[in-house]
Amino acid sequence: MIPRTIFSAEHELFRDTVRRFIEAEIKPHHGKWEKAGETPRELWRKAGETGLLCVAVPEEYGGMGGNFLHSAIMIEEMARAGATGPTFYLHSDIVAPYLVDFGTQEQKRKWLPPMATGEVVVAVGMTEPSSGSDLQGMATTALRQGDEYVINGQKVFITNGHTADLLVLACKTDPKAGGKGVSLMLVETDRPGFQRGRHLEKIGCKAQDTAELFFADVRVPASNLLGQEGRGFIHLMTQLTQERLIQTVRAVAASEAMIGWTIDYVSERKMFGQKLADFQNTQFKLAEMHAEVLAQRVLADRCIELHLDGKLDPVDAAAAKMSTTETQGRVADQCLQLFGGWGYMWEYPIARAFADARMTRIGGGATEVMKQIIGRSLLPATRKQRPPVDSGV
Ligand SMILES: Cc1cc2nc3c(=O)[nH]c(=O)nc-3n(C[C@H](O)[C@H](O)[C@H](O)COP(=O)(O)OP(=O)(O)OC[C@H]3O[C@@H](n4cnc5c(N)ncnc54)[C@H](O)[C@@H]3O)c2cc1C
Repeated sequence: MIPRTIFSAEHELFRDTVRRFIEAEIKPHHGKWEKAGETPRELWRKAGETGLLCVAVPEEYGGMGGNFLHSAIMIEEMARAGATGPTFYLHSDIVAPYLVDFGTQEQKRKWLPPMATGEVVVAVGMTEPSSGSDLQGMATTALRQGDEYVINGQKVFITNGHTADLLVLACKTDPKAGGKGVSLMLVETDRPGFQRGRHLEKIGCKAQDTAELFFADVRVPASNLLGQEGRGFIHLMTQLTQERLIQTVRAVAASEAMIGWTIDYVSERKMFGQKLADFQNTQFKLAEMHAEVLAQRVLADRCIELHLDGKLDPVDAAAAKMSTTETQGRVADQCLQLFGGWGYMWEYPIARAFADARMTRIGGGATEVMKQIIGRSLLPATRKQRPPVDSGV
């Protein structure tokens, strides 16, 4: 194995803490949460107490004061355990950076400390029933009236939507200005006019709560504007590199875990007087998957290094997201095949991982959106076309 060089001994101690937490607090209960369609609030508080939330948020705002290496450890260990229910990465590494980078001092002091303790859970609302990949088509508005914005509209597929106390909401503050009329709003979920819809039933990531959200004349003070009015798209775009890297890190760790479970299984399973591992087909399949994921592990680590230096190119992040999530889908399919009928049973982690993996080629920017971004970068003459800005979730 090519040794990983990006983590220090201190990071590995942190990894041990994360693993112990997952073993004790998540793995024994995940099946129950899958049936419930959500993870309990208590888990968020326990994660906060253990110092596992907002690990890259500066200490002055209640975070651990770490960097993306700590985030990567959290993301990897959760993915490796198939713990897709508690969406700590969304809370800590997708939403918290919006507050850190664009929040006022008052917003940061108010929201980041309770996010780090798990008292406040957050969600990000971009996707709408008729606009997902093409976010510019969003219809939700936040129109200024005196010292307030009045929000009307609807969001869909919102992770943590049922649990969240606070939303980072993409809205049109100037509906006639296209992409230049989009702004980000902080919306507390106890405001009159806000309603949560159904628990959306999914084929995977079943312990994750996924909601429809409705806004009917929801009033928020003008001070809830996050970042600058009309610059919502620019703010979103600055976060996309990290969001794609998160999906890359998740995909590689999930692929490695699936290959590991399959090696264990084929080493035990007997048929036709030999072990499943003894068939050349098994060895070739595992060899192919291992080689592909090994290359992607090296790619992911290099992307993490570049990101730590602020030098990860958004197009390279899109390429990494696309290739690693596509591989994850193939690995899930081929590993499940080696498990036979047992692989189709929900009680086997590979069955869950297969269903969970299907999401990663759609969310965080669909594969086709990534291809468009990469294609345009290779073909300068096409760059004048409007760049897609998708939800990074
Ligand atoms: C489980 C889950 C959790 C989610 N969590 C959140 C969340 O927390 N917050 C949030 O805001 N959103 C969330 N989403 C929404 C997610 O970001 C969108 O599903 C995604 O952006 C795709 O949008 P869409 O579903 O509207 O599909 P569409 O935009 O309608 O795309 C459908 C298909 O069209 C194709 N396509 C898209 N763009 C192009 C293109 N440029 N060129 C060619 N083909 C293209 C692709 O095959 C794509 O899959 C979540 C979704 C799921 C399933």
